[in-house]
Amino acid sequence: MPEKSSRLPEKSSRLFEVVCKDCQRVLMTVERIRDPEIVALVDHLRACCQSDPLGEHPMLGELLGHVRVMQVMGVKNLATPPK
Ligand SMILES: [Zn+2]
Repeated sequence: MPEKSSRLPEKSSRLFEVVCKDCQRVLMTVERIRDPEIVALVDHLRACCQSDPLGEHPMLGELLGHVRVMQVMGVKNLATPPK
């Protein structure tokens, strides 16, 4: 690992809602889309958007074509259950 100090979790209030264009469901509320989120998106879109299936290794841009990402400003209490 190149980084010695573990990075503190960012206390950003900038969150993004990821909404499926197909079923209009809010799939997740995240600060940024990283690998676990991409996996979850692929999972959902594979099940949801069967008329327009994803490739074997879809790129983020391809995923984002299937979802709407909306910024959530100044929300403090989000119903995001801890994992
Ligand atoms: Zn969907």
